[in-house]
Amino acid sequence: MKRLTLLTLIVTAFAAQFACAQSDWRSGIAWEEPPIVTPGKTDVDPPSDAIVLFDGKNLDAWDKQQWIINDDGSMTVKPGSGGIKTKQKFGSVQLHIEFATPEKVEGSGQGRGNSGVFLMDHYEVQVLDSYDNVTYFDGQCAGIYKQRAPMVNVCRKPGEWQSYDIIFTRPVLKIEDGKVVEVIRPAYITVIHNGVLVVMNHEIEGDTFYHIPPHYVAHGEKEPISLQDHGNPMKFRNIWLREIPDTNEKPPRTREPYYADAK
Ligand code: MG
Repeated sequence: MKRLTLLTLIVTAFAAQFACAQSDWRSGIAWEEPPIVTPGKTDVDPPSDAIVLFDGKNLDAWDKQQWIINDDGSMTVKPGSGGIKTKQKFGSVQLHIEFATPEKVEGSGQGRGNSGVFLMDHYEVQVLDSYDNVTYFDGQCAGIYKQRAPMVNVCRKPGEWQSYDIIFTRPVLKIEDGKVVEVIRPAYITVIHNGVLVVMNHEIEGDTFYHIPPHYVAHGEKEPISLQDHGNPMKFRNIWLREIPDTNEKPPRTREPYYADAK
């Protein structure tokens, strides 16, 4: 009798395994078919659905034209001339940008190779020469200014090209009479610096002020990307972005999970 039970168990287990091989489990969530996007020749080239903000030819995508365009496809900040903003406004984005701090090292701390990439013109990812140049850690290169230090310092030497790949989802703010009365959903940011993850899904606490603690101030659902003139002749090149969804929500489940015939 015992033997028969064991045999039955073995047969049942084998049959169950066989049955599994015949069908696969499906979630039943009605995902839309992901659109086809052609990648760039390298992962730093803009893909087919990117909005190119600077490709070395001109500053047409920007509100002011005072920075210098170089023959090598880069542009240089003209110190003291002020920052530049995109003409177009954006909310949640994937942003690629390359920069180089001045080859000739001058100044120290925040005074060396300082600029900044401002998402929505409010939230700064610090750009700084942090190669052998110590400052407060949440103010060093690739930090979310005065909110989060990068996990590692992966800066290249002064004058060498570096890259940021930034994933940013905009905040949702309840605004009354021009003031934020409720932060319905904060902004989040992930930063990859020179191919290395340095800030992971940081919950942004508000504007990245210099002189006061961070807090949200009223702004639109879309705002320009801006680049800072902090008095140093920084270089930038190859700037592009993709507009992305504001959240990671799934589409609705339209049917119960089910098993489909395996193919
Ligand atoms: Mg800065």
